[in-house]
Amino acid sequence: MIPELLNNQKTYFKTGKTLCVSYRKTLLKSLLNQLESREQDIIDALYNDFKKPEFESVLTETAIVIQDLKLTIKKLNKWAKPKRVFPVLLNFPSSDYLYAEPYGSVLIIAPWNYPYQLALAPLVGAIAAGNTAILKPSELTPHTSALISDIIKTVFKPEHVTVVQGGVDTSTKLLEQHWDYIFFTGSVAVGKIVAKAAAPNLTPVTLELGGKNPCIIDDTANIKLAAKRIVWGKFVNAGQTCIAPDYVLIHDSNKAAFYKAMQHEIQLAYSTTPKQSKDFARIINTKNFERLSKMLVNQNCIIGGQTDASNLYIAPTVIDEPQLDSEVMKDEIFGPILPVISYQNDSELETIILSYNKPLSLYVFSTNSAKAKQLIQKFSFGGGCINDTIVHFANHRLPFGGVGNSGLGAYHGQYTFDTFSHKKGVVKKANWLDIPVRYAPYNGKLNFV
Ligand code: NAD
Repeated sequence: MIPELLNNQKTYFKTGKTLCVSYRKTLLKSLLNQLESREQDIIDALYNDFKKPEFESVLTETAIVIQDLKLTIKKLNKWAKPKRVFPVLLNFPSSDYLYAEPYGSVLIIAPWNYPYQLALAPLVGAIAAGNTAILKPSELTPHTSALISDIIKTVFKPEHVTVVQGGVDTSTKLLEQHWDYIFFTGSVAVGKIVAKAAAPNLTPVTLELGGKNPCIIDDTANIKLAAKRIVWGKFVNAGQTCIAPDYVLIHDSNKAAFYKAMQHEIQLAYSTTPKQSKDFARIINTKNFERLSKMLVNQNCIIGGQTDASNLYIAPTVIDEPQLDSEVMKDEIFGPILPVISYQNDSELETIILSYNKPLSLYVFSTNSAKAKQLIQKFSFGGGCINDTIVHFANHRLPFGGVGNSGLGAYHGQYTFDTFSHKKGVVKKANWLDIPVRYAPYNGKLNFV
């Protein structure tokens, strides 16, 4: 079934229909229409999958995709138009152009944590750039994935865009095919499987992965604001966010004040009984619940620490000074658990951060601008913020992606269109003059160079 689907898409691509920009726009408008009219269904599906709060569903899923679609529809003519670039003297007389062409057949594999947005945002770019696409959403969010499939069916012919649902077996079969581009969002381990599968055909890939994202709070930071912004960035989606602050490194002069402020902000956001709060999501499944629960064993949970397996609930938790070799400091946490480690000088800070692979994001809380800038420049990471967390995601003018182990390539806004387009450089030579210097015989011509 999968080879046949792909074959049909390849045949469809060859007809050249997707090359027409106004056709792409018509379909994107129709997709926008569907997504706007079914917004409540999407919110319900996300709630049914992991009790995602309605506000978070709008802010971090539906609104993002709708904005993205609107921007793409508005700018597509400009993005897709051949761009003139300055020629070089050596080619005089010429006019030089960049043509954006679609790769062809694209595969998009999405994760479960923002199951709607992380499936549809790349898909919008793939369609805008004129590709055909097969989207494989996550098997762990069945309500959302089924709804996405349903919506796509109402807008696109399967030979243009289709959704293939399934788990690892399906994903493996998809990866065995010959694609022109693969866009993957998920874990580092599976990212490596994707890169290997792409290698025999030299298929270009975007890998949007994860990592252990440090959050530095120095001795000059505004602690109240830092706590407020960290509480939101860490506990939104119950910490199941690839760019959530993974662990805090705090100057020891500020630790006590920070714990007090965190306690206050967690209560403000989720009350004294976060389990009852409608604004706090659940862990996606038992496997992840158990993985996270193990991280709490033998730790000093200064805030939270309560779990309820029957409800897949883990309280917003802050761990005081975990050992660096303990479970919680080994891999990306990806849940509502925040370890806090104090430091006294920059070299301690550097040793800890550099002991991990390059993270997807890094955050610095400081009122010393020079210091914040120095830290941002010192470490390599995908993207981040000074005095906030995760909000760099919201600016479509900033490329979003990792570096090293946290990913390859980037997207958002025009970067998404560019990701799914091959840029063809073309020199258009004029015939009215033909400077003979470059032609053989070369005798004595080096004097001209
Ligand atoms: P995952 O890697 O387990 O799964 C992602 C997708 O890959 C799913 O569709 C799944 O079906 C498929 N998959 C799983 N195992 C596979 C295998 N062996 N072979 C082929 N395909 C396979 O990731 P997840 O648990 O869904 O998501 C969590 C991870 O994703 C975290 O590490 C997080 O940091 C990362 N993430 C990154 C971003 C980003 O934008 N960089 C965004 C969200 C999540």
